[in-house]
Amino acid sequence: MPTSSASQTSLLNIDALKAGNAGQPPKYLSYINGQWREATSNKTYSIVNPATGQVIAEVSDCGAQETEIAIKQAAEAFKSWSKTTAKHRSQVLRKWFDLVMAHQSDIAQLMTLECGKPLQESLGEVAYGASFIEWFSEEAKRAYGDIVPAPFTDRKILVQKQAVGVCTAITPWNFPLAMITRKCAPAIAAGCTMVVKPAEATPLTALALAELAEQAGIPKGVFSVVTASEGKIVGEVLTTHPLVRKISFTGSTPVGKLLMKQSADTVKRVSMELGGNAPFIVFDDADIDKALDGAIASKYRNTGQTCVCANRFIVHEAVAESFSNALAERSSMLKVGDGLDEGVQQGPLINDAALEKVKSLVTDAVEKGAKVLTGGQQHALGGNFYQPTVLTDLDDSMAIAQEEIFGPVCPVFTFKTDQQAIEIANSTPYGLAAYFYSQDMNRIWNVVGALDFAMVGINEGIISTELAPFGGMKESGTGREGSKYGLDEYLEVKYLCMGGLTN
Ligand code: NAP
Repeated sequence: MPTSSASQTSLLNIDALKAGNAGQPPKYLSYINGQWREATSNKTYSIVNPATGQVIAEVSDCGAQETEIAIKQAAEAFKSWSKTTAKHRSQVLRKWFDLVMAHQSDIAQLMTLECGKPLQESLGEVAYGASFIEWFSEEAKRAYGDIVPAPFTDRKILVQKQAVGVCTAITPWNFPLAMITRKCAPAIAAGCTMVVKPAEATPLTALALAELAEQAGIPKGVFSVVTASEGKIVGEVLTTHPLVRKISFTGSTPVGKLLMKQSADTVKRVSMELGGNAPFIVFDDADIDKALDGAIASKYRNTGQTCVCANRFIVHEAVAESFSNALAERSSMLKVGDGLDEGVQQGPLINDAALEKVKSLVTDAVEKGAKVLTGGQQHALGGNFYQPTVLTDLDDSMAIAQEEIFGPVCPVFTFKTDQQAIEIANSTPYGLAAYFYSQDMNRIWNVVGALDFAMVGINEGIISTELAPFGGMKESGTGREGSKYGLDEYLEVKYLCMGGLTN
């Protein structure tokens, strides 16, 4: 495989990227076993700024062969990395965290260029993504085992935790940094090695992270990034290779199901962070101003393109009209534009397909009788921009009542009783995040118990933090990321029975 470690321009100097098509777009290589590598075929693919449609970079287009090499080298690196002390791994991760935060501004601009999210949100994502490295640098030292009281006097029973082995990760474009650190930081903390395939659209942030991993002293083979335009080909190797012990995926539910099937033959451990369909319930005793703040924050994060974005507003009929009108007014005031421009709050959708999906969901709803309170059209800026939209007069026959929207559209449904609100909320195969607003303590605890969702925001629209377990129930996935639970995903529990002891 051709390598060219020396020729790569740093991704942390983004002037070349910002110049867009003015010159030849810069080329970036995959990071495999501590080396910057071309694809074996020498092929590259283009990275497009979704706000402008311009090609900003070319990236190595790797396939099965490069992936196999990355896995074999990760297996080699595992032999020594898994034997390092937890304290050493903690110190290396801490350096990585410090470097990411030192480059927060550069990485955030890079992120906005490749995924379109407003710069303020990108800055927030860099801090959020880095927080997982910091957290797991601390948790690395806490992979405690147990001593269990034995049933016989001549035995001792011990439980120790040890690294799972070679791990792989496949990540989406909507959080180009955080979805990688949420997996790699606990894996590396536990003593595992990791091969990542970032989303086709957003490999640059992942490669910037690799640059900083190298600077932090993460040894070769411990963290590799294989960039590719054909996720399917790389994904097949990552999920079927016998040397891989675990796959962690964040993305859509259909792809997650496929990867679980592919992983079955070699019985890999799997963590799946999949799609969502978050209900946002507003009861009649809610503080409506706070509910509106939460609604705007939850719905419009990353232009509606997050798995935990409010997807269905379910509002008590007594407050539905006032809530919907206020939501429409506040939505119409959001500034839409290129995420790098001052004051922009809503960027473009990631690509044409995303725009078409949002358009078709709104068209279907309107054709079946929905009322548009604001928006409802592609934005005047053209391209992938869509107007922040509020729809009312909805019913179950509309696709928007069932599907993950992944765009800046607020459908408002109504209910009469608490039981009805819960039924509507739970009437989805997804079980990721849910939100509700109420000030009645009895109602709060009843609703918490009845919601089939793994994360619940109570009078709060933004709930993600490295300190709490992130994950889904039902078809939203399996496993938890972040928090004290996140490290266990990368640790095997080994039981030791020591016999023949005399008293
Ligand atoms: P996606 O289409 O499932 O893609 C996610 C990743 O999987 C990308 O790297 C993609 O590569 C890769 N991929 C696609 N098809 C594959 C295949 N057949 N084999 C192997 N890899 C494959 O999802 P997305 O559109 O990027 O992301 C949006 C989805 O992610 C939404 O459903 C959202 O809810 C979910 N999400 C969930 C969480 C969570 O924590 N639960 C967080 C963020 C997003 P390419 O880019 O090359 O297609």
